Amino acid sequence: MIPVVHHPSYVTEAPARSTYRWGKNGAIRDLLLAQGAGVAWHEPEPMPPAWLEAAHDPGYVAEVLAAAVPREKERRIGFPVTPAVARRAQTVPGGTWLAARLALEHGFAANTAGGSHHALGDTGAGYCVFNDLAVAAHRLAAEGRRVLIVDVDVHQGDGTAALTAGHPQIATYSIHAEKNFPVRKARSTLDVPLADHTGDAAYLATLEATLAPLIAEVAPDVILYQAGVDPFADDRLGRLSLSDDGLVARERLVARLAQGVPVASTVGGGYGDDVMAIARRHVRAILTLGEALGR
Ligand SMILES: [Zn+2]
Repeated sequence: MIPVVHHPSYVTEAPARSTYRWGKNGAIRDLLLAQGAGVAWHEPEPMPPAWLEAAHDPGYVAEVLAAAVPREKERRIGFPVTPAVARRAQTVPGGTWLAARLALEHGFAANTAGGSHHALGDTGAGYCVFNDLAVAAHRLAAEGRRVLIVDVDVHQGDGTAALTAGHPQIATYSIHAEKNFPVRKARSTLDVPLADHTGDAAYLATLEATLAPLIAEVAPDVILYQAGVDPFADDRLGRLSLSDDGLVARERLVARLAQGVPVASTVGGGYGDDVMAIARRHVRAILTLGEALGR
């Protein structure tokens, strides 16, 4: 059985003036429900504000939790922070942290949301409100763990890098399309920028050559894995040329390179008009990782 973390608040009505396509999380839930007894469901608690503040400025945390985010920050995020969006933003980091705890027990667990890697200290950005990866990593580090955040979304994990920089127990890896959002990149422990239209073979070879030595060097207790599916060839915001088979091969490769280190996955980018096709890609990633890593 694959431990899957999900909360009803993940599935939120699209707020007005949103440039983000909502509905993905409900589709992911439904596709995983169709797996029946193959999935063990877990519901997270909202992340306590003190842990949100381990990564974010207290002023920004207060703005989000009160659903009183200034308009210019909402523009950077890409949608207004309504009370429902605020509840979701607080619960998703709780889910990523819970997935990590479950992974430590079972070898693998998946959060059906998260991967909000563009959120910065005092503002959200790029469809991300709170940075669940950075928040969960700070909490896991405080619990005595060494954490490696592996981010394979087509966009750089700039917020994650910025919010964990210099922490002795947290390392970050980002493999992404170089000529893509964000224009100003942050510095991860290891960044692997790729040229446009990098396809399956070159992508997988580069991932293995760069991630394997980093895992050996960091020797993490747990890996937080941002499994964005926007490197897919037809993605609206992607610039790489991975196929569906290439994405499955990527998950198998990351599972193999983990070498027994527990992995907690989140979703991440995946953009286009066909929400079901994108949800299927996320679910395929979760099932592939669960098969390869479960124990
Ligand atoms: Zn992305």
